[in-house]
Amino acid sequence: MNTIDNFNKHIVGSYGRYDLVLEKGEGRTAADENGKKYIDFGSGIGVNSLGYCNEKWVKAVCAQAHALQHTSNYYYTKVQGDLADKLAQASGYSKMFFGNSGAEANECAIKIARKYSFDKYGRDAQRNIIITLENSFHGRTMATLSATGQDSFHNYFFPFLEGFVNVKANDTADLKAKLEEFDGKVCAVMFELVQGEGGVVPLNEDFVNAIFDECEKRDILTICDEVQTGVGRTGALLTSQLFGVKPNITTLAKGLAGGVPIGVCLADEKCADTLTPGTHGSTFGGNPLACAGGIAVLDTVLEKGFLDEVKNKGEYFRKKLAEIPEVEGVDGMGLMLGIRLKTKKAGDVCKACLENGLLILTAKAKLRFLPPLNITYEEIDEGMKILAKILTK
Ligand SMILES: *Cc1c(COP(=O)(O)O)cnc(C)c1O
Repeated sequence: MNTIDNFNKHIVGSYGRYDLVLEKGEGRTAADENGKKYIDFGSGIGVNSLGYCNEKWVKAVCAQAHALQHTSNYYYTKVQGDLADKLAQASGYSKMFFGNSGAEANECAIKIARKYSFDKYGRDAQRNIIITLENSFHGRTMATLSATGQDSFHNYFFPFLEGFVNVKANDTADLKAKLEEFDGKVCAVMFELVQGEGGVVPLNEDFVNAIFDECEKRDILTICDEVQTGVGRTGALLTSQLFGVKPNITTLAKGLAGGVPIGVCLADEKCADTLTPGTHGSTFGGNPLACAGGIAVLDTVLEKGFLDEVKNKGEYFRKKLAEIPEVEGVDGMGLMLGIRLKTKKAGDVCKACLENGLLILTAKAKLRFLPPLNITYEEIDEGMKILAKILTK
């Protein structure tokens, strides 16, 4: 049976997929079953941060597979400690919890926020509301769906979790109004600095500063969901570093381990000790293969000049895009870009790109690029040539 028929027979139909069976990759180029090649501007939604078959990454993951692929969190492993130490040094967070996905990292953040207030203010205070932003995306589990500020996600699976209130992104007046309305009941404000699935929408600095000022005043935790924006994607290890803020909690996942499932919840001094034995856990969390991949990614991303190159390549993309009349504008930061089109539909362009050997993404009405962070200028040229042809037709 061919692969697509096999899928349709056995895999539940929760995804709308393209008719493409990917088989392997090399550098920033993927290949399908027939050997047709595709320049990759999507990296599996920002996951393959070092592209395919990166030598350092493959070596690290394979060596770990030969040594110890898994153990329970009843025991210690050097590799989990080493990844944590590197991440701590580069991020400024001393403590963290490893899970296996973005949603899990956010689940952990939600639990920390609620327990922080429970511990400090007591059960009766019911200080458990988490403010999230309209148009946000935080994951597909019940809690993270509840947190997600898009009505289209709040269907079918009732009842959703209580205790999430939405504020308009970049609307400081709305933020202040909601904080007043729910005064004494809010334990955290959760946000993406650049809303990814929501259409590559950056928050503005004034609004971000207002979140931090208000939260500081009221002893409310800040939770920054950097599942998509983190680990070098926008030109810094954490996008919060570019905004000059330090959230109490930051979550990372997608690009962190270069393609092995991982998620992490970083907690600052204020809430680092909130989770106590028995209050949270994960069988696979901190898995040695994932941690080995994470170390290879961090070692690469933190090499001197690497993050500057992410910024430079982002600028290079913008320059190339500005030459295409169909492009109305470009949003985003670093190598997380959303392209507004004048007349064409993003979905149609995405499909045409695929047929012509280029993998790209969409986000709402925009085209979205999340290329591997180590993409070369030649590869950008090659991919942009395909896109320009399609957008000019
Ligand atoms: C992808 C994403 C998630 C969910 O991550 P999963 O690994 O799919 O659970 C959460 N938040 C943001 C900002 C994301 O982009």
